[in-house]
Amino acid sequence: MASVKSSSYPLPDDKPPVLNDVSSVPELLRPPVSLDPLTPRERSWNMSRIRSTDTKPEMMVRRMLTAMGLRYRLHRRDLPGKPDLVFGPRRTVLFVHGCFWHQHPGCRAARIPTGNREFWEKKLNRNTERDAQTCQTLRSLGWRILTVWECETRDPEKLQRRLAMLFPPLNSSTPADPAAQKKEPAE
Ligand SMILES: [Zn+2]
Repeated sequence: MASVKSSSYPLPDDKPPVLNDVSSVPELLRPPVSLDPLTPRERSWNMSRIRSTDTKPEMMVRRMLTAMGLRYRLHRRDLPGKPDLVFGPRRTVLFVHGCFWHQHPGCRAARIPTGNREFWEKKLNRNTERDAQTCQTLRSLGWRILTVWECETRDPEKLQRRLAMLFPPLNSSTPADPAAQKKEPAE
């Protein structure tokens, strides 16, 4: 009985299979056609995920706000910029922004890579311009806009304190909430 090791296939041990002759390598062990681990489409998908919804920082913010008894809706498409969280009765939207993609001012994580600088500047400028436009429109519609930056979620205690300040209970007689109700109403 031939053991696996005596197979004529060059099974990978600590060495990758030879890339320029894959004919003797079983289909499954062949490297993908492109030697780049990600195709452009996959990479673009990855990038879009980075900026997209349900990121780890966003989940953390959501968990905290839920624990505070707040109710919100996610990514309301009918609002400019599809805000990450929307607090209807408070007329408040909250964005959880990645420091790089949204260029957190003064943040180390927002530094533009030195390679391909022009490309990144153009791309990131587009993002910040879009953000500014979104904020302007939301404000004109009477929304209060809050932003939590990704780097702020690295200190959960501090973030918790900040959220508590930004979202005082509606039944407390804060001037910001003149139409305070006993219970956080749903929309
Ligand atoms: Zn930051």
